[in-house]
Amino acid sequence: MSDNVMKGKRVFGTSRAPKATTEARKCARESCETRLSRYNKREYCYSHAPVKYPRLRGRVVPES
Ligand SMILES: [Zn+2]
Repeated sequence: MSDNVMKGKRVFGTSRAPKATTEARKCARESCETRLSRYNKREYCYSHAPVKYPRLRGRVVPES
């Protein structure tokens, strides 16, 4: 029994390098076309990001 099976590696031309998330992220605010950087994990652009005001201590130093 001589089974001459030629084994060859077929090179498929569909081996595209997977692109790393190229989806354009935009600001979560509608009607805002500001694109966000891929590395920016915030939902809003800089001008729409909810601003967190540091809670100020309403401490008034009494002037003696
Ligand atoms: Zn925005």
